[in-house]
Formats: sequence, structure tokens, C-alpha cells
Amino acid sequence: MSVFEHHEFDGHEQVVFCHDPASGLKAIIAIHNTARGPALGGCRMWPYASDEEALTDALRLSRGMTYKSALADLAMGGGKSVIIGDPRKNKSDALVRAMGRFVDSLGGRYTVAEDVGISVADVDLMGEETAFVGGASKGGVGDPSPTTAYGVYMGIKAAARHRLGSGALKGLRIAVQGVGHVGYYLCRHLSDEGAELIVTDIARDSLDRVVKEFDAKVVAPQAIYGVEADIFAPCALGAVINDETLPILKAKVVAGSANNQLAEARHGEALRQRGILYAPDYVINAGGIIIISHEGPDYDEAKAFTHVARIHDTLLEIFRRAETKRIATSEAADRLAEERFRPTRPQAA
Ligand code: NAD
Repeated sequence: MSVFEHHEFDGHEQVVFCHDPASGLKAIIAIHNTARGPALGGCRMWPYASDEEALTDALRLSRGMTYKSALADLAMGGGKSVIIGDPRKNKSDALVRAMGRFVDSLGGRYTVAEDVGISVADVDLMGEETAFVGGASKGGVGDPSPTTAYGVYMGIKAAARHRLGSGALKGLRIAVQGVGHVGYYLCRHLSDEGAELIVTDIARDSLDRVVKEFDAKVVAPQAIYGVEADIFAPCALGAVINDETLPILKAKVVAGSANNQLAEARHGEALRQRGILYAPDYVINAGGIIIISHEGPDYDEAKAFTHVARIHDTLLEIFRRAETKRIATSEAADRLAEERFRPTRPQAA
């Protein structure tokens, strides 16, 4: 298995292969870039079919974290770790603790947080082995979903301002796909501002709650793409912008919390060509990581929320750049991030 020649290798600074025979831990920690500060990123536990697949995920996800941290204006870089195994069958306290010790061995170059397969309780356990944990329940900010939702709300206002001429959401029709942790809090912000909500979910109880509290109108999961709405807010799954959904989308804006909304990079350009403004997912959904970056003894909630609100202005800058350069907003976001984390090259004499 090649690392330096790997198709996802992007000049990563450090890739650590971790093995603890006693607990059966096999993990990879990838640090992509620390130009802005030590790397921060979640730990994912997944039953990867091969070591190669795990490496691919670690390289890809850690790179994504560098871009996310840069556009969230954090003094942090990008990293991610993956544990090879099924969290339901292979996870044990000993394994999680061993992971914590490997994180500690990097001396703060990487801070671990929760991700798929790794819960806040697991992060708490790692926190007994290392100080380099983010999003722990003890001394941490706990569930980041309300903050993520606030950031998405601010991002939606930026997109409305740019595409619809005003950041006021009163009277706008907003279609929300997924009313779970983030979707629910997002609906609350939108409803408070007088937006009309059309929602879908596969969980009946989640739907009942938003119907009761916010008078939302419910549609079937497949119908959400085609509803007459000003804004489509994907807050459930990835890859929802694809060749099947693009032709039926009626919204003028796509802005929501879901990760990896574009099925392929080319769908960013396809949205642009259809005149649909896309708020790049990793920019608009950064509220959670922003608040985690503020954790610590000097935690100041007002300061953290002011930082989250800056998602609004970052998006406006991305939208303007994309328009001027006639490129997809997803591409404009990547270019702006790169400007922020790539050290400037020394000028030739
Ligand atoms: P969640 O699991 O609480 O909510 C997702 C909701 O989507 C659930 O209610 C689920 O029933 C629903 N759903 C699943 N499949 C669906 C389908 N086919 N159609 C309609 N609804 C469907 O998750 P969450 O924490 O609210 O996160 C939502 C999205 O935002 C995810 O993509 C997540 O990766 C992303 N995100 C979350 C955070 C955070 O702070 N929680 C931060 C960044 C990104």
C-alpha cells in the first residue's frame, strides 16, 4: 500500500499507523496541514473492508478539515483519525483508551473529537488518557447541533441576501430535509423569523414535533426536491445534489447542514448553470467545530456565537468571488481556503 503515491495524498504532513495488540486497535491518524495551528478533527470508527480503504478515508477527511478550519477562521489545521472495526462489535473501553494514548503521543499536534461510530462518551474516555480532546461532555460544550443550526441559519440569510436580494426570511418558503438534531433547531430559527416551512423526514416523531411547534407542512421524502420553495436546506444525507435531483429542484438556493451534499464536484458547476446558489456545506455547517475551538477555561459563549455568526460574511465573500470569476461557489470556497492555509511561497530574487 503506497502512501506518498496514494491518489488522496495531498502533501499531508504526517500519517501515523497505530496498533495496540492488547485491545485489537488498528487506527490511522492523518495530519494534513498545521500551517494555521494544531490539527483538529473527529475520529471515525467504521468496518472498512481494507486498510487501503481506511487510509483513503483518513487522507480525504483530514484534508477536508484543513479547508473547513481555514474558512471557519480557526487557528487550527486539519486532521482526522479512523479506527478500523465495527463500533457495535469491536469497540471496547480498552480500545478507546488505547486510541486516546496514541493521540496523546502526538503531543498536541492533533486534537480528537467525535465522528461516526465514536460518541461523546468515547471522547470522554479518551480524555482520561489525553488532554487533546474536543467536544467532551466534561468541561466541553456538549452537543454542538444547536450551534451548527445557528451557523446554518446565518448562512441561509447570507444566501437569501445574495440570491434573493434580502436577508430577511419572513414569508419565504424553506424546504428542510431532515428534522433531526440540526434540522429541528434550524426550523426554530426559521420559524421565529416568519419563514414558511415544508419538511420531510423518515422519523414520524421528529416530524410531529416540527408540525406541532412550527406549523410545518410535511411532504414525503422523495417529494422534497420538487416542492415550490425559495430555499432547499438539506439536513439529513450526503449526495443529495445529483443527476436525478438537479433537474427537479425548484429552489433558488441550496443551503443546509448535511455533509458532502454534492454527489460529485461537477454538481457544483451544474447548480451554478441552473442559477441555483449553493452555500458550500463545509462552510455553512462549521458552527459545531467553531464552538469546540472555543472550549477551555476561558470559554465565553457570546464570543463563540459571534464567531459562528461570521459564517454569514464568509459566505458572502465566497458568493461574490464565484460571481466575479464565473465559477462554482464550491470551487470559490476551496480557493479561498487555500489562500488561508498555504504559506506564501518565498519570492524569487
Ligand atoms: P440526525 O441524525 O440527528 O438528523 C438527521 C435526520 O435526517 C434524522 O431525523 C433522520 O431521520 C433524517 N433522515 C434520514 N434519512 C432521511 C431521508 N432519506 N429523508 C429525509 N430525512 C431523512 O443528524 P444531525 O446531527 O441533525 O446532522 C444532520 C446532517 O448535518 C448530517 O449530514 C451531519 O453530518 C451534518 N452535520 C451535523 C453537525 C452537528 O453539529 N450535528 C455538524 C456538521 C454537519
